[in-house]
Amino acid sequence: MAFITLDRKAFHHNLNMISKQLQSRDKIALVLKDNAYGHGLKQIAQVASKYGVTRAVVRTIDEAEQVRDKFHYILVLADTPAVLMPAYCFTINAMEQIKSFPPGSRVELKVDTGMHRNGVPPHLLHHAFEKISKNGLKLEGVMTHHRSADEMGSEYFWQRHTFESVKREALMLAKRYGFSKLRFHSANSAATFRSHEGHDDMVRVGIAAYGCLEMPEGLPQPDLLPILSLWGEKISQRRLNQGERVGYGGCFSADRQLQVSNYDVGYADGLLRTASNRYSAPGGEKMLGRVSMDNCSFVGEADQLLIFNDARSYAHAAGTISYEVLVGLDPRLPRKIIE
Ligand SMILES: *Cc1c(COP(=O)(O)O)cnc(C)c1O
Repeated sequence: MAFITLDRKAFHHNLNMISKQLQSRDKIALVLKDNAYGHGLKQIAQVASKYGVTRAVVRTIDEAEQVRDKFHYILVLADTPAVLMPAYCFTINAMEQIKSFPPGSRVELKVDTGMHRNGVPPHLLHHAFEKISKNGLKLEGVMTHHRSADEMGSEYFWQRHTFESVKREALMLAKRYGFSKLRFHSANSAATFRSHEGHDDMVRVGIAAYGCLEMPEGLPQPDLLPILSLWGEKISQRRLNQGERVGYGGCFSADRQLQVSNYDVGYADGLLRTASNRYSAPGGEKMLGRVSMDNCSFVGEADQLLIFNDARSYAHAAGTISYEVLVGLDPRLPRKIIE
């Protein structure tokens, strides 16, 4: 059966690089949403917590429950509890959501400093604090999210600038409404490495920890290592004669005699179809023909084939980003940690 391996040493290396950039381990809040970017929530939480990461960011309450004994602090990005759940902090993504939290809930307010996706606009900060207080919620933090930290240009800087003024106002409001010690955070992976400033009280790092951060030329290029490898197991093999074609539509045609092997990974496992016939595995084996639901074909005879060990190269062939390749990996694939 196809499987995934996770390189513990590479993961530690990435966490070391992030700690070095932050000059602290304590500021790391590891983003574990969506099955830890497809790496396996349990496996990554286990290794991260052993390393000394104490904060995690997840998407849902269900994810939070699975890692609750591993971290001191867990921020839920997009879920609303039906009953009081004091073990977690919950993100307020919209003003209307404030009334939905059970009184006593620990919350953090997302402010929209320019991405225009989630969060309350800065000019309604006062209104939000008032509502949070009225509804008996415990405000612990104020956060924002960058839309362009991984792009050249000034956008990162004006969002930072806006967030700095949000922070000043939030501190004043916190005093007025009796919320003490607000936590501020804004940086994702790209923002963490883009500048030594702007780390606030913590950073929410995802893709950098998984070793697949991509920064454009001209911006700092951190030395990070991808930690996930996808392996396929051979189901069958055959010799192609010149002119014989492979897979649906026969879009690959052999220009000479070739050995072709068929592996047990397909788009049902998350192997994107858009890389069909235009990708080569790290060992140089060319993908032949279309990726089908449960299969893909490569040149050669290897019993086990390393399909990728850097999601970025598969993503480039598929016309997308590593995030999409990684989170698409079927949670049913076994995941082994390699020491
Ligand atoms: C996913 C996410 C992150 C992590 O982004 P990376 O680019 O993977 O570091 C940080 N903050 C929020 C709000 C997110 O949704």
